[in-house]
Amino acid sequence: MKFGGVSVADGAKFRKVGTIAQRFASRGDQIAVVTSAMHSVTNTLVDAANQAGKKKKDHVRKAADDLAERHRKAAEAAINDKEILERTLESLNATCEDLRNVLLGIAHIGELTPRSKDYVAGFGERLSAPLLAGVLEDLGLKSKAFTGGEAGIVTDDNFGAAQPLMNITVLQVRQTLEPLLEEGVIPVISGFIAQTQEGIHTTIGRGGSDFTASIIGAAVRADEVWVWKDVDGLMTANPKMVKDAKMIEAISFAEAMELAHFGAEVIHPKALECAAKYQLPFRVKSLVDCDRPGSSIVSETKVKDGDVVKAITNISDVDLITVSGASMFGTPKLPAKVLQILTEEEVNVLMISQSSSEESITLAIPKEDGSRAQNALELSLLGSKQVREVSIEASLSIVAVVGAGMKGTPGVAARVFTTMAREGINIRAIAQGSSELNISFIIKKKDTERAVQALHDDFKLGG
Ligand code: ASP
Ligand code: MG
Repeated sequence: MKFGGVSVADGAKFRKVGTIAQRFASRGDQIAVVTSAMHSVTNTLVDAANQAGKKKKDHVRKAADDLAERHRKAAEAAINDKEILERTLESLNATCEDLRNVLLGIAHIGELTPRSKDYVAGFGERLSAPLLAGVLEDLGLKSKAFTGGEAGIVTDDNFGAAQPLMNITVLQVRQTLEPLLEEGVIPVISGFIAQTQEGIHTTIGRGGSDFTASIIGAAVRADEVWVWKDVDGLMTANPKMVKDAKMIEAISFAEAMELAHFGAEVIHPKALECAAKYQLPFRVKSLVDCDRPGSSIVSETKVKDGDVVKAITNISDVDLITVSGASMFGTPKLPAKVLQILTEEEVNVLMISQSSSEESITLAIPKEDGSRAQNALELSLLGSKQVREVSIEASLSIVAVVGAGMKGTPGVAARVFTTMAREGINIRAIAQGSSELNISFIIKKKDTERAVQALHDDFKLGG
């Protein structure tokens, strides 16, 4: 079971998570739990690390104090037994003390390295796991907290997005956790963090707790990995936008991955990739009603006749950057260069399309990164003879139609575009990956809701 930051946002929610574990443990299930940091704590930590790098000692002292206070309050609200509470607070205090020292150390030198940034970023999970283990004990269960590294997850030293070394990880995690599971102990593992073979702390990428859950599930040969959310499950469209959006009962890993890339805040793509590789069934379960089956994500789902499209998703607020110039024709190096410039700027490219005349490349970029991306491209490309202009257009959104059944089914694109034409919605750019799992296109932001609803109706996805 994996619980995200929103599920452990405060003491009451920790308690709720505890009762869910208790409910399934009492049914006789062997359970391992992976937890994220409390909501927004990782952002606070990353910010504190950056401020420390700028020698802002007062800022980091306050950040460390606030975090200590927030965790203390949560523990006091979630744990009743005096002795368990005291023990938990002691462990939290020691970890908070360590955090404070590290931050002040960084602030003293005024140098933040990728390694020390990872060390700081992982403190949220180092605090939430023992807290949750304390809550489980308070509920009468046997529990033990582990950091990802202590559980046996080993990575390379690519700080910020370290890659697990799966063979050794699987062996170590199995050795650490399986005996405990057999004894009915519920291990609580910090998501997001791991360590190198030398024991240096790493993180496996933002949102990485889902990935931790896959890794642990693969290692202990779990029957299923359950990711708990405060939504019903995976939906055919954003329910805030489409009233009759329906829960998806079953979806394939490949489809779920498309959803993850296209704005539906579901499960981290790395988690799905890992689960697919180890044939590990995933389930998105609802915190609101824990007996509902939720959405299951499995290797292959049979595509029902006519069931070509599974979901319509969207990313609102994208900028469209167009790099154009007649002499771009036949210069394969240019697209590569464009992407390289954006990678160096750490800009996340959501979609790329190039006309076959090769006179322009169009890129969809999150709004926050738009002008930075344009500046970087102008600086590096405008001097060259090939590029005439780098233009930017704002207030757009991406809509994506997702489903494995589209593969080899002619006419889906035609249907999408006919629907848009009927609605009078102008399409600015289009992309389809060769996997044929999604068709994505760009429209004006103000048309998003209408487009998503019309497609949802047209493909009869509603309940
Ligand atoms: N706490 C980490 C983050 O905010 C990992 C996670 O929540 O999955 O990115
Ligand atoms: Mg997440």
